[in-house]
Amino acid sequence: MDYSKVFNAAIDRLHEEGRYRVFIDILRNKGAFPNARCFAGHNGPKPITVWCSNDYLGMGQHPKVISAMEAALHDVGAGSGGTRNIGGNTHYHVDLEGELADLHGKETALLFTSGYVSNEATLATLAKILPGCIIFSDELNHASMIAGIRNSGCEKQVWRHNDLAHLEELLAASDPEAPKLIAFESVYSMDADIAPITEICDLADKYNAITYCDEVHAVGMYGARGGGISERDEVADRITIIEGTLGKAFGVMGGYIAADRVIVDVIRSYAPGFIFTTSLSPVLVAGVLASVRHLKASSEEREAQQASAAFLKKSFADAGLPVMNSVTHIVPLMIGDPVKAKRISDILLAEYGVYVQPINFPTVPRGTERLRFTPGPTHTEEMMTELTSALVEIWERMELRKAA
Ligand SMILES: *Cc1c(COP(=O)(O)O)cnc(C)c1O
Repeated sequence: MDYSKVFNAAIDRLHEEGRYRVFIDILRNKGAFPNARCFAGHNGPKPITVWCSNDYLGMGQHPKVISAMEAALHDVGAGSGGTRNIGGNTHYHVDLEGELADLHGKETALLFTSGYVSNEATLATLAKILPGCIIFSDELNHASMIAGIRNSGCEKQVWRHNDLAHLEELLAASDPEAPKLIAFESVYSMDADIAPITEICDLADKYNAITYCDEVHAVGMYGARGGGISERDEVADRITIIEGTLGKAFGVMGGYIAADRVIVDVIRSYAPGFIFTTSLSPVLVAGVLASVRHLKASSEEREAQQASAAFLKKSFADAGLPVMNSVTHIVPLMIGDPVKAKRISDILLAEYGVYVQPINFPTVPRGTERLRFTPGPTHTEEMMTELTSALVEIWERMELRKAA
């Protein structure tokens, strides 16, 4: 076996498809996001504006978050020192789980080192504990949920995206006695649409299923206290398990689930992805605590983000750019070709100092490659107007189709 030949061929396939990924080397400027520095050129860092960050509300630079992290670092040091079971169960972790349980109106919560790990560990473990469990999974669910479902080894039924009739058809056709779990997201971050959570919960009641909702792209940003779409739609109490990240709107790092005490106890006790890993640094947890507490009390950031998103959507639409229908804070432009998406992104960075990463397969299906903009509270109208002009110029230069 010529190992390097096989590895090189695998990389060549990505180049041929135009979806070889290039990571842009940046540093964000604290206190001045979305301004950042890019290290792509040879003449030292170049100033850029970041348009694709998932630090949606700029909490990664919030003074309360920064000072909480500094205080924790000087009080208890850098790392947690162990797993939750052996030495790494810090008081910060305990406090944050209480804060997150309260955020979602659940009995308790459980922290993980990332949102990915929380989805994988929870879904794989839950479905193993329930004998003969069938998981009903929305077709656009995130890779971390798909990994968890696969690792559970149980039967999986995929329902068409947000299609309640299809979900019901699959539920009705399955063994009435089998335990059932419906797994979905609230905000789908690539399509910028929202799941009909109330109706999904109605179906769960009708067919005696439990529900698992990934609120990663909604926590911090929707609901009066940032409890997500489930808070906004007043359905949190009907969802069995709510999952979220601490790395996007909360601006730091980590993931969690919130649920009844017994379910959390099962995951805590059985999930390898929770048990066999060093717990989050208390410095990170202290920052998240400050962030969650701040966003529970303040809607200013959420309102400013929604205003920016509305402005950018209108600006793109008025300019005839192919902005996808979005009922969320995410503003995707459909390109439909990986090479073109990469080319537009390259021009934006090189000529306009605009950083927006092209989104390609497997993050989205082939042929639906896009640019995904995430304007936040600190993107000004002037920045958005300039961005729109830059895109219009590139559209003309590349002779791309305008929206009807
Ligand atoms: C980003 C993401 C995750 C993973 O969260 P991390 O904290 O980044 O690991 C899970 N689900 C969805 C839908 C995501 O977009």
